[in-house]
Amino acid sequence: MTYVDEVIEHVVKKNPAEPEFHQAVKEVLESLRVVVDANEEKYRKDALLERLVHPERQIIFRVPWIDDKGQVQVNTGYRVQFNSAIGPYKGGLRLHRSVNLSIIKFLGFEQIFKNALTGLPIGGGKGGSDFDPKGKSDREIMAFCQSFMTELCKYIGADTDVPAGDIGTGAREIGYLFGQYKKIRGVYEGVLTGKGLSYGGSLARSEATGYGLLYLTEELLKLNGISLKGKTVAVSGSGNVAIYAIEKALQLGAKVVTVSDSTGWVYDADGIDVRVLKEIKEVKRARLTEYKSYRPNSEYHQGRGVWSVKVDLALPCATQNELTLEDAKQLVANGCLAVCEGANMPTTLKATQYLQNNDVIFAPGKAANAGGVATSALEMSQNSMRMSWSFEEVDSKLKDIMVTICHNISDAAERYGAKGNYVLGANIAGFERVADAMSAQGIV
Ligand code: GLU
Repeated sequence: MTYVDEVIEHVVKKNPAEPEFHQAVKEVLESLRVVVDANEEKYRKDALLERLVHPERQIIFRVPWIDDKGQVQVNTGYRVQFNSAIGPYKGGLRLHRSVNLSIIKFLGFEQIFKNALTGLPIGGGKGGSDFDPKGKSDREIMAFCQSFMTELCKYIGADTDVPAGDIGTGAREIGYLFGQYKKIRGVYEGVLTGKGLSYGGSLARSEATGYGLLYLTEELLKLNGISLKGKTVAVSGSGNVAIYAIEKALQLGAKVVTVSDSTGWVYDADGIDVRVLKEIKEVKRARLTEYKSYRPNSEYHQGRGVWSVKVDLALPCATQNELTLEDAKQLVANGCLAVCEGANMPTTLKATQYLQNNDVIFAPGKAANAGGVATSALEMSQNSMRMSWSFEEVDSKLKDIMVTICHNISDAAERYGAKGNYVLGANIAGFERVADAMSAQGIV
């Protein structure tokens, strides 16, 4: 059995109830075969792959809080500090009822390579809770965040582990978390990113994941001789990533015709109105059913269906495994040219393979959505310098980073004889940096 197969088998056996984690490990290790084969003796001796798939530390804790009726609620909190070879653990906090250890570990594992791809000094980590923020009052959100941070603050710090937002964690939650950290630890430091502008946040951080996705998409299309201008785009999701992906797509001359949330999706043939979307999602925190009252010519459909629309580009920006093999077949049949992932692992393994086998340009999330965490790292730099940069300065750094990632993943794929396989390119380029740092630092 090859070293890669042995490690995959070991991961599945040791963590039997963690399918999302298995999926992420398989995707990465499968594409590392060429590199691992070339260094097999050394990697085996150092148990490099076993160390890579084993988090450095996992913290699981109780989060009790009191709801508006005076009832005590208990959630589970997680922080997986996966790999610190190239910098302090860095990664978001997901608040969603689906959160469990498997989800946090898959996200933390992906984060290692994503963060390495940014070229910035950030290790991989992820956290969150099965707390469901939907329908909760502001006071309940604050109560949860304070309780969560009361425990988490023992394990994080500006030079140790720097959490940020993810699904369910936005500016409001980061504010409450930061306030509680400061109160308990008595330190004013850049312990979280995605902060408000009045207390250490970075300009362009809110826009960064969506904008970055479009910068990378535009460059990748260009490498393939295609222009983004005039293209029709399907976007899924309607959160922070989707909103700013749509905004940037529009600025770059493309037209986005769909958005979705957990209950339905919108088709707007004239192009999604991003101001309306922001009003519904960021101000009212409401459902997409409201979109039609602002845009009477649009259609609202219940359930899923975004990938059935005929488009040139698909940008999945909702959540893991939202684009299945059936969806991939539909996209190919409709002549879709490229799929670039704004969310983390939104495409199933089978769907990814189908798209690649049918010559659809495919950019994996760890490269395509790295703009968010990259700008978080820029926020950390500004906090350390006690300075803040202008929007243009941060945005232009973000663009440079995304263009560099695009070329790095393309070059890595070519170096290993797999031109155009950006999954392989991203995994190898991320891995090379982490493996090099791990080897240099000895057995730790
Ligand atoms: N949650 C985002 C991600 O998946 C951002 C993490 C961060 O800014 O640390 O990369």
